[in-house]
Amino acid sequence: MRKKIVAGNWKMNKNLDEAKALVSEVINMVRDEITGEVDVVICPPTVYLTTLRQYIPTEGRLALGAQNCHEKESGAYTGEVSAGMLQSVGVQYVVLGHSERRQYFNETNAQLAEKVNRVLEASMIPIFCCGESLDQRENGDYVGFVKSQLTESLFHLSPEQFSNVVIAYEPIWAIGTGLTASAGQAQDMHFELRQHIASTYGDEIAQNTSILYGGSANEKNAADLFAQPDVDGGLIGGASLKSREFTNIVKARQ
Ligand code: 13P
Repeated sequence: MRKKIVAGNWKMNKNLDEAKALVSEVINMVRDEITGEVDVVICPPTVYLTTLRQYIPTEGRLALGAQNCHEKESGAYTGEVSAGMLQSVGVQYVVLGHSERRQYFNETNAQLAEKVNRVLEASMIPIFCCGESLDQRENGDYVGFVKSQLTESLFHLSPEQFSNVVIAYEPIWAIGTGLTASAGQAQDMHFELRQHIASTYGDEIAQNTSILYGGSANEKNAADLFAQPDVDGGLIGGASLKSREFTNIVKARQ
């Protein structure tokens, strides 16, 4: 059975005191209120990872994630952070290929393929983001476009490696806009992506791949999204900055 996962991508928000307070609240609420099978991943800004690692119990459903890493193992890349460094401070998941990184930092599918390699080599789990723009959805072969993101960044992996990848479908037009994909739109794309995975890796691996939805998911629409058979969880932006709302989203997934 594939894992149910709710991940909070804090993006570039919160100072250290606020980050400590938020993670403490989430840890307590999740401990007290969540009983079902769902993994919860907290992805704070890189600079807080080492500190917040100490707050998150090493056993249990909570895990620590990073929002990015560099594609090289080490070297003269001023200001960058490697997968090995993240692993060494206890990071378990790494978000890769978020549309904001593709858009503002020009990340390419080929570069992301290398980042995926580094994260897997460091025994962490990539949360690989994909998704189309509004223009692509309205005017183009948007399903083909999102499939090609998977093909070009992931399908070089062996079946064993691919089994450790989590996918996050995040339509760009739904991110931070308040415009959520309908549950039907999310399900349609998740189904297509699972078929696409099956065509390369076979049905068993496809059925075991967790595909998360991201884009203006909140405590009101989460239950509807998670009720879809191919929506295995969420990658939550804005709503992950509020402990009550984030926990309610986790509750909707358990
Ligand atoms: P919002 O939930 O703020 O729309 O962001 C989604 C996202 O980009 C998560 O990675």
